[in-house]
Amino acid sequence: MNRVLPPGVSAANFERALAAWASAVGAANVVSSPAGLASYRDPFALGKAFDFTTSAALLPASVDEIRAALRVATQFRIPLWTVSTGRNLAYGGAAPRLSGSVVLDLQRMNHVIHVDETLAYALVEPGVSYFDLHTYLRDKGYRLWVDPPAAGWGSVIGNTLERGFGYTSYGDHAATQCGMEVVLANGDVVRTGMGGIDPGTSWQVYKPGYGPSFDAMFMQSNFGIVTKMGVWLMPAPPAYLLGEFQFRNESDLETIVETLRPLQLDETIRNHAVIEGAIRRAAGLAPRSQYYDGAGPMPESAVVAMMNRLRIGRWNLHFALYGNEDVINAQYASVHRAFARVPGAVLSAARYTGDAQPTGGGDRNLAGIPAMSAFRMLDWRGGSGAHVDFSPVCPATGRDAMRQYTLVKSRAAEYGFDYYGGFTAGTRHLHHIFAAIFDRDDPKQPEIAGDLLRALMSDARAAGYGEYRAHLAYMDFAAAQYSFNDGAMLRLSETVKDALDPAGILSPGKQGIWPRAWRDKRGYT
Ligand code: ADP
Repeated sequence: MNRVLPPGVSAANFERALAAWASAVGAANVVSSPAGLASYRDPFALGKAFDFTTSAALLPASVDEIRAALRVATQFRIPLWTVSTGRNLAYGGAAPRLSGSVVLDLQRMNHVIHVDETLAYALVEPGVSYFDLHTYLRDKGYRLWVDPPAAGWGSVIGNTLERGFGYTSYGDHAATQCGMEVVLANGDVVRTGMGGIDPGTSWQVYKPGYGPSFDAMFMQSNFGIVTKMGVWLMPAPPAYLLGEFQFRNESDLETIVETLRPLQLDETIRNHAVIEGAIRRAAGLAPRSQYYDGAGPMPESAVVAMMNRLRIGRWNLHFALYGNEDVINAQYASVHRAFARVPGAVLSAARYTGDAQPTGGGDRNLAGIPAMSAFRMLDWRGGSGAHVDFSPVCPATGRDAMRQYTLVKSRAAEYGFDYYGGFTAGTRHLHHIFAAIFDRDDPKQPEIAGDLLRALMSDARAAGYGEYRAHLAYMDFAAAQYSFNDGAMLRLSETVKDALDPAGILSPGKQGIWPRAWRDKRGYT
């Protein structure tokens, strides 16, 4: 692989910058060899049309080292792309949006700084993964749960900043964040909210602080480098119930959503329930070749045969109830009554008390135990499995869910892909997640998956929907779709960006926000 230089920087100046970074963070923590940089490539890249290459990576171990690295980057005008652990797979991994950027990899800053069991929170550094935090809590005997996302190896900070979500009642990760420490582009270090009181007592317990509240500004943005974050944790419940309700027909989706929403609005169900399509449910069990070995999307007859063989539904609702047993029993009775009205529904639930735990992959997430079961899906199509995700926000109505499902399923079939998807239920909205699963070694599939994504994004926009998150390749496209008043929101973001980071050093292009210095690089739209 040829060496890539940061844009507009000569080879000689880049060498000077590398030497300066070596004194800032230690030579062993400056990666510039092609072999060392391999892990900073997007493992699920969408073909040759897109180039997101890293010129080097820096692995600082402290806030002071970050500030020193930032000074060098500013001196040489080299963009830094910050990741916590860089496992943002399906959205770009650790790769930067602007080719030639240097990845600022915070994985060595991996301390759980503080846990308060009474007030149920933790303060963590960027390199702390869900696995790490879970192990830490278990080893120290804290009666607190984490809320893991689908893949437990990612970082708490990275996932929260991307507004990822999990499965328990704490599934909206951005909502359970409380207090941050951020290094700004000028090197200043800010603590948000009550973190301004120094020394203080309330940084992780009251979000707003005094005056404007800035935390949300550092999510899905390029306004700062987050070096510490508070996260609220769920007290381990005395008992819980995990339900799996199966429904036979495609059209049942409408009734499921209409039945679930009131149960979430009145807080009978408080977790982030998931409505999983048949193929997504099946892909967690075995590859597609077990049921069908033709090309193109699986025909309906094969999907139905697969559902019968695996005893799964066309839609599979997973939800959880947490708390005291008697309360759970009463809640379950209402949930059961509501869904038993759907003809052909198969309703089942497993109950756990005390320290009992589910043994199966996905269910463990609902019990606050991180897992990697999500990776089984990569075997669905055969070959070297990869995926890219289409993630439109959907109002929590049966009509909208059916509309999005029909739209995505038919467009995916046109491009030769199965509907691997499902809906994660907030209360008033659903996150609709569809994954285009492809073989990354196939000469054509990555590009076709990319084309499908683009078509889906256009379809969704035409119907009045927008994405909550997008792969590097489509960050500009997704941002441009938020077009009210000739793109006023992006104008605001770029005004803030230019004020905070006039040299355009921090993550240019992230979420379509380009600093003035690199605005001509906006593209791929
Ligand atoms: P994961 O936790 O899944 O490994 P990443 O570390 O890849 O996630 O982070 C996902 C994205 O979030 C990154 O591409 C980056 O844009 C942003 N991000 C992650 N960590 C930070 C951080 N500490 N400060 C600012 N932005 C961050």
